[in-house]
Amino acid sequence: MKDTSKHQGLRNQLAKLLAEKGITDKKVLEAIKVIPRHLFLNSSFEDFAYQDKAFPIGAGQTISQPYTVAFQSQLLEVKKDHKILEIGTGSGYQTAVLVAMGAKVYSVERQNELFKTTSALLPKLGIRAKYLSFGDGYKGLPDYAPFDSIIVTAGAPIIPKALMAQLKIGGRLVIPLGEDVQIMTLLIRKNATQFEKHEFGDFKFVPLLENKN
Ligand code: SAH
Repeated sequence: MKDTSKHQGLRNQLAKLLAEKGITDKKVLEAIKVIPRHLFLNSSFEDFAYQDKAFPIGAGQTISQPYTVAFQSQLLEVKKDHKILEIGTGSGYQTAVLVAMGAKVYSVERQNELFKTTSALLPKLGIRAKYLSFGDGYKGLPDYAPFDSIIVTAGAPIIPKALMAQLKIGGRLVIPLGEDVQIMTLLIRKNATQFEKHEFGDFKFVPLLENKN
């Protein structure tokens, strides 16, 4: 699969649409313009890759809708060299967007098939995540903690305690909370024990599952 000027044009249009939908973080919009989303999808979806829609990526999972990726990325307030933990690597598209924003990304995926495919794809595209891990995201990555921010890209029934513990003071945890529909939730760590909570409307994600591997 190739990246062409036609794809670049579609990406520019997608970034414009996301700006119209309320995304204001320039770094997010620039990353959307740079990352070739069509290469993260099965080639049968190539023609639709720059629509603002989620698509299947195998193993019963989906690549998040671009607006959702942009919204979560904006809530993280990414600064260059921020150390970010992502739960739910999936296709690697969200990972790639954060890398393009200058973050050092650590990502965990529990589906072995997706872990293997994405671990091969990202280096092929020249996208350097710091660490891709196969395992249960409920546990986070204690060996690499603490993180400047943490993003969960699956619908979580609860906020995993381990993730709260792995956040720096001042750090941001962005997590869609709920069963059928999820409320996008931002926790900002104030000190060792206190977190400030903000809520941002409804989203729809595949579920964050307990590890089965
Ligand atoms: N960020 C991804 C979104 C994929 S959908 C993308 O841009 O494509 C959510 C992903 O979370 C799925 O791949 C699913 O397998 C994974 N997931 C679900 N429960 C998990 C868990 N407990 N630990 C790690 N990953 C999990």
